[in-house]
Amino acid sequence: MAKRIVLACMDRRLNAHLDENYNDGNTLFLRNAGANAHCLLQSIGNAVNSGEIDSIVVLGHTDCGAMKVVFDAIVNRNGSYCNGIRDKIVNLFEDYGYLKHAGERLQGLDPVQRSRAEASVRRRLEKRNVDLQVGFLKGLTRSFPHVKVEGSLVDLKKINALNLTGNGRHAIVLSRECGSRFDRMCSIANTDPHETYVLESRDIKETITDLQLAVEVLHIRDIRLVAPDSALKDGLASDLEFLKGMSSGFLKGSDIAIAQA
Ligand SMILES: [Zn+2]
Repeated sequence: MAKRIVLACMDRRLNAHLDENYNDGNTLFLRNAGANAHCLLQSIGNAVNSGEIDSIVVLGHTDCGAMKVVFDAIVNRNGSYCNGIRDKIVNLFEDYGYLKHAGERLQGLDPVQRSRAEASVRRRLEKRNVDLQVGFLKGLTRSFPHVKVEGSLVDLKKINALNLTGNGRHAIVLSRECGSRFDRMCSIANTDPHETYVLESRDIKETITDLQLAVEVLHIRDIRLVAPDSALKDGLASDLEFLKGMSSGFLKGSDIAIAQA
């Protein structure tokens, strides 16, 4: 049984870093857009209630796409994001005064100054996100005082991941097994780990907003449900049915399939 939860962003550039530094066989990985604990209440609650978990680590990162969406929606007032993304991701930062007023501070800057100032606002937002998720998880685990909650912001420059080739073409959604190595998952799915976003939850319904972001913002059309061992196959079949049931909506035109070891 897992002793630790690592809640990380689904970003493809974190795959190798997580494998190398956190994948110790005793870790339950949960991953979504922006390492958002609010969207994973069921998975986190069940794991903590089992009594096995003694720590939770939240890992946000620099150059985070989910935080770019938040920035774009709040600072640039881009109203085109769907309700799911607004409700579950953007609205967490509604009361963040610093971000709300960042647009005024950016006005009148020349392009070079503006891009530097934007980068600094985004970095502050990324840190704020980790603090927000850690605070939320501390509240959530209040009746489990032995559970230690901490968070950090992974600097993609420091882990040499900023210039990984490609733009991300695939998404893997894991809802049954959240402890396997990501390089193995990608090899089963026959995708390049540098190109593969990974969503992990114990309940496929918890990943819908993140899938929406993968499809609508990242333009990913190739979605794989991975079964690292054949015992998980039946569960994945029902997840596949669930996703196919939505294929008239935002998943229209997506290629969704199970990949088996
Ligand atoms: Zn991210």
